[in-house]
Amino acid sequence: MKYEVNNEIMHTVRLKVTIRKTIWFAIFICLITELAFFFSYRFIEQSLVDEQMFEHIIQYIAKPTSINLLIAAIYHVFGAILKKESVKSFTMVAAISAICFNLTITHYTLPSLMTIFCLPIFITSMFERKKLTKIVLLLTFIFYALTIYFANYKSAIPLTFDGYYIDAFIAFAVILSSYIFTNVLINYHMEYVFITKSNSLRQTEIIEQVKRDPLTNLYNKKIFYDSLSVAMKQCNKLCVAVLDIDNFKTVNDTYGHSVGDIVLVALADMLTNISSKKILTARYGGEEFSIIFKDMTTFESYDIVETLRLEFSELTFPQMDNKSVTFSCGLSGDSPSTLSSIDFFNEADQALYYAKSNGKNQTVIFTSLDDE
Ligand code: GH3
Ligand code: MG
Ligand code: MG
Repeated sequence: MKYEVNNEIMHTVRLKVTIRKTIWFAIFICLITELAFFFSYRFIEQSLVDEQMFEHIIQYIAKPTSINLLIAAIYHVFGAILKKESVKSFTMVAAISAICFNLTITHYTLPSLMTIFCLPIFITSMFERKKLTKIVLLLTFIFYALTIYFANYKSAIPLTFDGYYIDAFIAFAVILSSYIFTNVLINYHMEYVFITKSNSLRQTEIIEQVKRDPLTNLYNKKIFYDSLSVAMKQCNKLCVAVLDIDNFKTVNDTYGHSVGDIVLVALADMLTNISSKKILTARYGGEEFSIIFKDMTTFESYDIVETLRLEFSELTFPQMDNKSVTFSCGLSGDSPSTLSSIDFFNEADQALYYAKSNGKNQTVIFTSLDDE
């Protein structure tokens, strides 16, 4: 589970890095296009001897482009130093806002150009952090006010409502709309992520449920055999036990199936308590249970099973007039490498059969059968 979470975090970080790289590539293309546009326009429109052209190139191309490149360079130096993803994202969007500000200042006579501030606001939607969008909006307001102040200060003639402020106001409305729209996008995406996450959680739950027996919550027969096959390949020492409750039909016939279920759950709980990384417990079927002892000797496994058998036999059930129930156990162990998982289990089953026919309420080790 921890591995999956780490994987998810790594994926998000990689995604954010890709987003940042893509945005910078897009900005780079914009700069190149801007340069190409201005050069071709000026060369076609005016002759090379036009002395205004040089000034124009300096003011509208060389100066803003150098400032933009400087901003990009500063961001890259800072970006490499910064560790926190959120700070990195903010620095990037702030740098883009600064580039936009540089453009609105350069072309201060075009108030409608201030709609360009929508770009950094939209970009924040990719990072799904409303706080970041808010901070960028605040930054935009500052840049917006500074642009108008600069236009007032630089303009030879006073700015008029018709000629300037109406366009500036429309740009303001567009910026606000982009903020609202970005918030809607973030909300939608967060909702989508929430639904996807709960679906995948539910899927994990269902997969886990399918692996388990509903009454006892122990692993089922399929998981038992799957685990046994894997364990037989991985473990040097391995044991398998099969437990069968003695005279269980009588319990059901005398006290009813619901009481029978209580007995089954009681034994299952004891099995759950001994379960660990090395011990896998399962409900094989009916009143039969199975255990895999990984990297444990036959005698270590025998000790555990015997302790369990004695503890269970001492358990009394109020629903059965305080009577107790016992189980028999067959155990097969050591050198399973040449056997299939079914044959290995069958050895334990044969030992169980011997335990049943030899008086029940006992554990029989398969190897000991060879000696008799
Ligand atoms: P033995 O000592 O030889 O094992 O005898 P037994 O009576 O335990 O074995 P038998 O196979 O004759 O009976 C097993 C019973 O277990 C029959 C079946 O109705 C009952 N059983 C199987 N699954 C469940 C269950 O989920 N709940 C209940 N209450 N009984 C179950
Ligand atoms: Mg049985
Ligand atoms: Mg039985």
